[in-house]
Amino acid sequence: MSLANKYRPQTFDEIIGQEHVTEILKAQMKSNKQQHHNFLLFWPRGTGKTTAARIIAKAINCLNLQDGNPCNKCINCQTINEGKTLDYIEIDAASHTGVDNIREEILDKASYPPASLKKKIYVIDEVHMLSKGAFNALLKTIEEPRNNVCFILATTELHKVPETIISRCQVFNFKKVNNQEMTKHLENICTQEGLKHSHTALEVISKISEGCVRDAVKYVDQVSVLGDVNEEHITKFLGVAPESMIENFLQLIKEGDKTKIFTQIDDIHNQGVDLHNFAKQVLMYMDQHFLEDIDFLSQVSEAFTEIISNIRYYPYPTIVYKIAINKHLDWIKNEGWRIKNEKNKEENLRSKVQDLKPTTPASTDQSQPTTSETKLEDQTQPDNDDLLQQILDSLEEGSFKNNLQDQIVIEEVTDAKVKIIAINKIAEMMLKKPENITIIQKVFSETLGRDVMLEVKFENKENYFARKLW
Ligand SMILES: [Zn+2]
Repeated sequence: MSLANKYRPQTFDEIIGQEHVTEILKAQMKSNKQQHHNFLLFWPRGTGKTTAARIIAKAINCLNLQDGNPCNKCINCQTINEGKTLDYIEIDAASHTGVDNIREEILDKASYPPASLKKKIYVIDEVHMLSKGAFNALLKTIEEPRNNVCFILATTELHKVPETIISRCQVFNFKKVNNQEMTKHLENICTQEGLKHSHTALEVISKISEGCVRDAVKYVDQVSVLGDVNEEHITKFLGVAPESMIENFLQLIKEGDKTKIFTQIDDIHNQGVDLHNFAKQVLMYMDQHFLEDIDFLSQVSEAFTEIISNIRYYPYPTIVYKIAINKHLDWIKNEGWRIKNEKNKEENLRSKVQDLKPTTPASTDQSQPTTSETKLEDQTQPDNDDLLQQILDSLEEGSFKNNLQDQIVIEEVTDAKVKIIAINKIAEMMLKKPENITIIQKVFSETLGRDVMLEVKFENKENYFARKLW
């Protein structure tokens, strides 16, 4: 039997982290005054709603309540636990499993008295997903409460449940289990199971299961297959990074050595850490340590937010890390090459003008007719390849520059516009980011001595060169 099943709560007391709800439910069951016949349980995703619904169902029907908890021994408790009674019906409104026709079931069959239990119980999970017809049937049925039927509705999206339903139910808000409670719970399980474990390893599991007890217990179960529940095994089995790895990584970013950072990204990836999870873990870590280093962490959090939003769309997660970190690292380190560029601006311009002079045909040379504006441009400007090289030269060494090198070409330079073709998707993506486009536009304008807009287009490398050849 899996640990998740073995430790699935069977009584209110075994549900962890929901005392604000379970104490009320127990008191209500004890008093046996169930004025409210129907319940609406509101849960954050993955907190085990059917488990609690089943406990309520048992408590309502139990023949031998134990301080408000179901006894789990009487015939009623047992038949519910074993799923052997027709009086206990679980319906999943999201997947339409449980009964053939929800509307018909609620409208017609709910009114039949229970066959063996005290009360017939309907558990409708994700009730907000019911069809309109089913909703109306449900409303009609609960409008005229009967003593021998009870609805336990559960939802992860309370705002989607009609007010008319909510007002006829007793609503219970469940919450995510916090990390301390979760870790303590996992520690108890490990002790009972005789599993060797480290406290930090269980903390990591608590964090990544984000308040879902069932997931957390499942992770312990999976990792224990490798032996001890320790950080090394967690990394191996779940692709989850130990906290020391996160700390080291942030330290490297702080030190700002790109080569080391990028090597570390590859290392983390090669160790089997899921980089999507890793980004989430880093953000969680930063959240907890935010006050310790606000300026640095807010910069880094921007990079990681970007990583999380982009990582799903790229087959190579490491490059997403490198691009985002590279970009934000430039800001972290004295605002990057933009500042460097500002400082060298005048000097650059001066030297460019000087460079151009000897090769520029004398402007007094009247024998060369100027047939068009473009022609004039050609005379006073370096050719496109040279121009591009100048632009790239003014960027700081790093992956941003490397990603543009050989991956972009200047298609056309006009008075007010520079058309760039990116022959690589990453180069296109990097160039199109608003903050990058502003900066590059500025560099172009400075180099050309006039304001220009940048237009970036992607063209597949083969197409581009084929077009050029023709
Ligand atoms: Zn019982």
